[in-house]
Amino acid sequence: MIPLDSHPSGRHFLQIPGPTNVPDRVLRAIAQPTIDHRGPEFALLGKAVLAGMKRVLKTEADVVIYPASGTGAWEAALVNTLSAGDRVLMAETGQFAVLWKKLAERLGLVVDFLPGDWRHGADPAAIEARLRADEGGAIKAVCLVHNETSTGVVTRVPAVRDAIDRTGHAALLLVDTISSLGSIDYRHDAWRVDVTVAGSQKGLMLPPGLSFNAISRKALAAAKSARLPRSYWDWSEMLAINPTGYFPYTPATNLLYGLHEALDMLFAEGLDAVFARHDRLAEATRRAVRGWGLEILCADPSEYSASLTAVVMPEGHNADNFRKIVLDRYDMSLGQGLGKMSGRIFRIGHLGWFNELMLCGTLAGVEMGFASAGVPHRKGGMQAALDYLAATPVRELANVN
Ligand SMILES: *Cc1c(COP(=O)(O)O)cnc(C)c1O
Repeated sequence: MIPLDSHPSGRHFLQIPGPTNVPDRVLRAIAQPTIDHRGPEFALLGKAVLAGMKRVLKTEADVVIYPASGTGAWEAALVNTLSAGDRVLMAETGQFAVLWKKLAERLGLVVDFLPGDWRHGADPAAIEARLRADEGGAIKAVCLVHNETSTGVVTRVPAVRDAIDRTGHAALLLVDTISSLGSIDYRHDAWRVDVTVAGSQKGLMLPPGLSFNAISRKALAAAKSARLPRSYWDWSEMLAINPTGYFPYTPATNLLYGLHEALDMLFAEGLDAVFARHDRLAEATRRAVRGWGLEILCADPSEYSASLTAVVMPEGHNADNFRKIVLDRYDMSLGQGLGKMSGRIFRIGHLGWFNELMLCGTLAGVEMGFASAGVPHRKGGMQAALDYLAATPVRELANVN
């Protein structure tokens, strides 16, 4: 067991933007006995979770489930559709974009990396300009991170889709939704995304260990001629057997029990209500940050993330020192600054299995942490969040959305 000597009482507050809090219902589902993955019962489970994932992804297209973290599904999206030396267009929105780029380069792809300041989403106009300049059609794919988890910034995927369409360019559109799916509206079919990449441990409320690809017809066609070596990640073996509810190799059976339960919870609440809940808790968080007199990393309000908020530390104060004090004194984990934001920001996760009073506890921990760590701030951030939550009924907001 992990020693819990300093805070043995009450729940730990896991407010990193993934892994997120796993609902008790999901934990209980995962604790069921493992069954034969080639037996009759399993087929029902396999079919149900594949159908449920299509519903969350808003697609009629094929979906595959890997026993892997999100990084595996990143690799799968690339190796199934591309060949060594192919050009791909990516945008430097933050650390996750940087990591996907590195992965692509290790596979032998040539990445055109649109520079960014880590405070904005991918720029549709810049993508349009690059594609227009690519008269020979050398660029085979545009890769986007929908919700950049390292910065709390959302890329407007439909605007990028429109930009690609205006150029008439044939590039595939590949989108990472690892920290947006189940928290922020996303539409694989309506936005004509070719490969969607998703993961289990963020908005889907599961532990880490599952990841997903949703695959358009155009991506399936590209897979026929793609020449990057692939075996474990190959879609074709999955797609051949999935309609029967089975998998070509041993699936993560117990995580699939959890997925089944988590999908039930999302559909019972209603996806629109889930998104409205995330919007509301995110807005309350931003009001708290402004109330403290601190800066939100995301520079454009139309790109605010409903999954997390990244907060810029006042000059001369280290975010990791602050986070350590919050953990030691209040038993709460906040997200660290990643890559070049290390020490400069901290991230408040407000996604997944989360509600108003959990948010209030989180914000109280942050405000007390500022006082404990001697971080200059104004009083009243917490109060601004409470006032907002008390004054705006949930149902009205859900109807507006
Ligand atoms: C968490 C995350 C990843 C990485 O997923 P792993 O499960 O850690 O492999 C990739 N992209 C985004 C946007 C993420 O939030």
